Amino acid sequence: MRLMPPKLNSLLFPPKCIMCHTPGTWLCRSCQSRYLTENLPECAVCRKVSTGFVTHPQCKTDFPTDQVVILWRYNRLGRAFMNKLKLGLRYRIVDHFIGIAQSKIHVLIPPTSILIPVPAHPLRLKERGFNQSEIIANSIAQITGCTTLNALSRSHLGTHQTGTSRRERLLQKSNEFLIKKELHSRLKNEKIVIVDDVCTTGATLHNCALALVPVQPKSISAIALFRGKKTKSNHG
Ligand SMILES: [Zn+2]
Ligand SMILES: [Zn+2]
Repeated sequence: MRLMPPKLNSLLFPPKCIMCHTPGTWLCRSCQSRYLTENLPECAVCRKVSTGFVTHPQCKTDFPTDQVVILWRYNRLGRAFMNKLKLGLRYRIVDHFIGIAQSKIHVLIPPTSILIPVPAHPLRLKERGFNQSEIIANSIAQITGCTTLNALSRSHLGTHQTGTSRRERLLQKSNEFLIKKELHSRLKNEKIVIVDDVCTTGATLHNCALALVPVQPKSISAIALFRGKKTKSNHG
């Protein structure tokens, strides 16, 4: 992934509040308190409250993910953030947001974890030249001391979500993601954290987790910045 060096980037694209355009910061105090809504800790399977975003033991049958941390609600601010991020030029906006969640991240992600970004679709990657989940993973790595590893790739087969219920969709064994063979032994007995930008149904994170099970990691968790609302057109 090639990105402009951070110093040059800040010089060319000085921070401006993504909501009200006040210069000097990517999100001014007043817009932060107005638009940045924390996501309550919940279980990724049943969506009921769960301390530390831990998957309830009774919900964990067939679900390999121990914990799915989603920091904020996807709203106008989330949309503005993603629009800026997708252009890539203002990628340092991610550092600002990860900085806001720093204390939470420190509690939830052990520094010995390996961060695995959800791989971008090859066409998107070609178009943009970067994977935004990797930018987020690198930013988390900077503050936690974790390692980022691009261990997953998208298979050409893709996946078809034909199940009707949320549980059925999550349970469908998927071959959407593949683990890079040379990294199998590197991941055994490690604490893995899958990193994504927006989590909507949770299916993408679960499919990544399913792909990682065969390497026998110590634990599989996930983190996403925004909890998206379910619409007809999105599945991830
Ligand atoms: Zn503002
Ligand atoms: Zn649950």
